[in-house]
Amino acid sequence: MKPICPMPWSAFFVKSAGELHPCCTIKEPPGVKYTLQDDGIEAYQSSDFLKELKDTLLSGKMHETMCRDCIDQEDNYIKSFRQHEIDQLEKDFPNYTINDGYVKAQFIFDNTCNLKCIMCDSLYSSKWRQEYKDIYGIDNKPNKTDNKFIREFFEKNFKSLRHIQISGGESFMGPLGLENDFLDIVLNQGINENIDLYIETNGTVYPTQEIISKLLQFKSVKFNMSMDGISKRSEYIRYPSTWQEYESSIKKLKSLVDNYNKFNLGIMHTLSIFNIYYLKEFLDYAKTITDKTHIHMVETPAHFSPLAMPYELRQLVGNKLLKDKNLECMRWGKFLKECNSNNEWEKFLLFKDKHDLYRGTNFAKTFPELEELINGFQ
Ligand code: SF4
Repeated sequence: MKPICPMPWSAFFVKSAGELHPCCTIKEPPGVKYTLQDDGIEAYQSSDFLKELKDTLLSGKMHETMCRDCIDQEDNYIKSFRQHEIDQLEKDFPNYTINDGYVKAQFIFDNTCNLKCIMCDSLYSSKWRQEYKDIYGIDNKPNKTDNKFIREFFEKNFKSLRHIQISGGESFMGPLGLENDFLDIVLNQGINENIDLYIETNGTVYPTQEIISKLLQFKSVKFNMSMDGISKRSEYIRYPSTWQEYESSIKKLKSLVDNYNKFNLGIMHTLSIFNIYYLKEFLDYAKTITDKTHIHMVETPAHFSPLAMPYELRQLVGNKLLKDKNLECMRWGKFLKECNSNNEWEKFLLFKDKHDLYRGTNFAKTFPELEELINGFQ
């Protein structure tokens, strides 16, 4: 029988600190957590929550709570993670059945990073550690997944794998830095020519020639560059990078991609309170770089999600997006106007001020249009 979503069968996600998940958007029941190092793959695969999820998907429905993000997005005509992944699976593995095994694996090996983007945290960026500790009182130590687990995973699943995604931290500092042998593990397994590699990068670190030579041995490589704004808005969000740095990295990555047919470039845009108002301007800019821009919305910290905006502000920003006459803007504008608030607005006001003070940044000067809207209804 074919489930409404294949992810728990076809995909294997290792998130920060070795956490295991069937997809990157799932909301597991409170308290449910499986890690590669403490529980192992088999305990995760035979877990009650995964069984419940699979049973629901096999019955032709998405799970009411665990699949909430996909349900909400599809209800609002936004292409959900489920729909993206089904399209991808059809390309990677035509005629896939749930007995065929894992086709996609996404690994976050460690959180080494040179940036502390405002909507990230110290689980995903080592650069965040001190600020997160000072502002939120939580000390997330640097984390790294032992390659022996990755080796074991490949030994068991190499036959069905077609697609590997590497996320960070910054991929070219951690797993694709010179001290890590991740690429050698895949090359030694001899499956590289079957594999489309997706590499998420913050765009500020360029791969070494040695890494480029290894990447060229894969079927294809897509560099997905995270970009969350242009000019001073990018500098505020993707702190402490400079826009000049970004523009020069884009040029370098673009020319690398232009030189090799196997390489291509995409943009990942994470919507937060800081940038959703400026979506049209960003998409116009992104079009000058690539036609492959993927938009998704920040989930945590919830106080920086667009869902934290109070009703009146969501209507104002939503109306602006609807007027922008761009399909993506119109979809997100509609979503914003109709979604439920996550009730985190007070925390947004508090923490944006705290971060501004800590970093020496200035929300009001960087996002004057948004500041005006906020002042208008408060
Ligand atoms: S429907 Fe969405 S949340 Fe549910 S398993 Fe599929 S991708 Fe994950």
